Amino acid sequence: MKQPLTLITGGSRGIGAATARLCAARGHRVVINYARDAAAAERVACELREQGGQALALQADISVEAEVLRLFEEIDRQWGRLDGLVNNAGIVDTRARVDEMSLARVERMFAINVFGSFLCAREAVRRMSRRHGGSGGAIVNVSSVAARAGSAGQYVDYAASKAAIDTFTLGLAREVADEGIRVNAVRPGITETDIHASGGEPERAWALAGQIPMQRPGRPEEIAHAIAWLLSDEASYTTGAVLDVGGGR
Ligand code: NAP
Repeated sequence: MKQPLTLITGGSRGIGAATARLCAARGHRVVINYARDAAAAERVACELREQGGQALALQADISVEAEVLRLFEEIDRQWGRLDGLVNNAGIVDTRARVDEMSLARVERMFAINVFGSFLCAREAVRRMSRRHGGSGGAIVNVSSVAARAGSAGQYVDYAASKAAIDTFTLGLAREVADEGIRVNAVRPGITETDIHASGGEPERAWALAGQIPMQRPGRPEEIAHAIAWLLSDEASYTTGAVLDVGGGR
């Protein structure tokens, strides 16, 4: 497909920014969504435009339905089409046991990691599905190896939110498989991004390197390559798959 239009949620840094860069290098026009840090998102968009790509930064908190609707309406207005969605935006929280967690914490975790991805996927399906007059597309959800590991003593709420994403991926994939939409997930292992600092442990990625068979955390670009492959026509017969990219973990 010529110059697909791809929305990457949380595209302003980390895995999302690496995905935006790789997609742009492969000819995608990219929408870089972010929640709070407009300057970071604009920096990525500017960098891609300077390299001759088409990129736009758009703010929306994906856990707020009205903001998701506004985001997709803006894409409709500017481009009138959507070919790919990377449901990448996600959060962790500080280390805690379940018996220490407030409901507010768990609600926020699920509101962003699960409901936000659900809302964006719903809006994407409404535009891409042949059932709705669209011309198909691909959705990649960013899960985590935590969905398999459970993250006991760290953040079971986060792990459970990512397990929900895995099942959402499978179910939605089967629901829209004959409507031209493929839905897959990537499950990164520990990756060098700012997310660990936001959980109060900036050194976490390297501190846990010894538990990873490859003895190192992943780089955002390494996760981006798996995402870009699942978005591409090279993965034309792959749907409902959950791909581990975790250095063997
Ligand atoms: P990151 O560096 O913390 O970046 C998070 C991105 O998400 C930022 O662009 C942030 O934008 C955006 N975001 C956060 N809340 C949002 C919201 N409510 N609405 C819209 N955007 C929001 O994270 P990352 O490490 O690259 O992680 C990306 C994905 O990979 C997440 O789903 C994460 O769970 C998953 N993952 C990461 C690792 C890892 O070790 N890094 C491992 C497994 C899975 P603002 O800065 O503007 O808020």
